[in-house]
Amino acid sequence: MARYTGPSCRLCRREGIKLYLKGERCYTEKCSVDRRSYAPGQHGQRRRGKYSEYGLQLREKQKARRIYGVLEKQFRRYFKEADRRKGITGENLLQILESRLDNIVYRMGFALSRSEARQLVRHGHFTVNGQKVTIPSYQVSPGDVVAVKETSRGKGRFKELAELTRNQGRVEWLEVDSDNLTGKIIRLPNREEIDTPIEEHLIVELYSR
Ligand code: SF4
Repeated sequence: MARYTGPSCRLCRREGIKLYLKGERCYTEKCSVDRRSYAPGQHGQRRRGKYSEYGLQLREKQKARRIYGVLEKQFRRYFKEADRRKGITGENLLQILESRLDNIVYRMGFALSRSEARQLVRHGHFTVNGQKVTIPSYQVSPGDVVAVKETSRGKGRFKELAELTRNQGRVEWLEVDSDNLTGKIIRLPNREEIDTPIEEHLIVELYSR
């Protein structure tokens, strides 16, 4: 499937916040948002802060898409599904995004960014309930066990990651065993447990126009 292959830092600068798309670099002084806190492009320094109501809603949707690495068509499908489910549409949408396998791999600390997680999943390094899954958008459910494939465990990157992420803060809705590179989804997160800086009501308003 087609995906954005341009510079990731440009996306953060467009949204005006750190989207943490590049792993380690995002935590260093090399981060472009810290160095150049204006939008990219010729008129970037003049543009910020002049959004209409529609513009604000659009930016919020773009921000969410970029954080989770989802294309427009798929994002719209997620919204339809969120709207169809019982409960609050915005919260449902965030739960669907959080249930993507690439996000779960990232949340469990088996990758330093969602884009790295996506690549590792695509390369066949993960199993869900013992079965190899190579689809980053695969939706996990409570009770599922995600693990680094046995033959991948000895590989350099996973040893490195286990060390790098051992002391990383974990989310309560996931149970992670860093030594064995496995994790279990205990339940779906509620809104307070999702720390991504998204005002989902703006997205709901955008799609309800
Ligand atoms: Fe965004 Fe990370 Fe680039 Fe900073 S380093 S601008 S957080 S992708």
